Amino acid sequence: MKKVLVLEDESSIRSFVVINLKRSGYDPIEAQTGEQALEQLRENPDVRVALLDVMLPDIDGFEVCRRIRASGSKIGIIMLTAKSQEMDKVTGLMTGADDYVTKPFSPAELTARIDALYRRTGGEIEDEALSGSELISGPFRLNTRNRTLEKGGTRIRLTQIEYAIMKLFMESPGRALSREDILNEVWGRDYYGELKIVDVNIRRLRLKIEDSPTIPTYITTVWGFGYKWGF
Ligand code: CA
Repeated sequence: MKKVLVLEDESSIRSFVVINLKRSGYDPIEAQTGEQALEQLRENPDVRVALLDVMLPDIDGFEVCRRIRASGSKIGIIMLTAKSQEMDKVTGLMTGADDYVTKPFSPAELTARIDALYRRTGGEIEDEALSGSELISGPFRLNTRNRTLEKGGTRIRLTQIEYAIMKLFMESPGRALSREDILNEVWGRDYYGELKIVDVNIRRLRLKIEDSPTIPTYITTVWGFGYKWGF
C-alpha cells in the first residue's frame, strides 16, 4: 500500500483528505499534532509522501518539515497552507518541502500533486539502478545510482525534487530550459501547480550548490524564460 502521512489538526479537513486519498488507492496515516506526525513516521518508515498542515497547536508544519529533513529523510513533503498566509513568507520557510497546496483545495488537485511526488520519490529508482552512472560537470558529481550529489568531493544533501532538477540541468549543459520545461520534466505534465514552484526550488538549490547564491554562476537565469546550467 502506498502510505501517505496526513498531518492536520482540524478533523473535518483531515477526514476529507483521508477519504479522498483512500479513494485514490493510498493508505493514509493520520496525525493531529507535529509530535504525533514525527512518531508516525518513525513507526512507518515506508511512508513516501507527507502532507503537513502549517498551522498547528504545537510545533508548526515548517518545524515538522525541518525535523524530518534533519533526520536525513528524503520523503516527499507537501505543505498545506492557508490563502491568508503570505506566499513569500511560505515559500521562504519552505526549506525542506517539495511542494505546497493552498486551502481550499479540490480532491483532484491534491491527489494529482501527491501522485506526481510519489512517482518522483521512487518510481524511477528501478530504471536508474539498471543504467546507473555518474554525471560530472565542473566541481559537481551526480551519482544517478544512489541519487547523491557531491561538490568538490563534499556531499550536498538534496530533496528528491532538487535531485531531479540537478539531473535535468547536468544532462543539458549550456541549454536554456524554460520554467515550463523544468516543471514538465520534474513534476510531470499532469502537475496542477503553479510555475512559481520552479523558482522556489531553484532558489533553494542555489543556496546549496552555488559558491555565492546571490551571484549564481552554475544555475544562471535566462531572463523572461527560465534557467540554464552553464559556467
Ligand atoms: Ca490547522
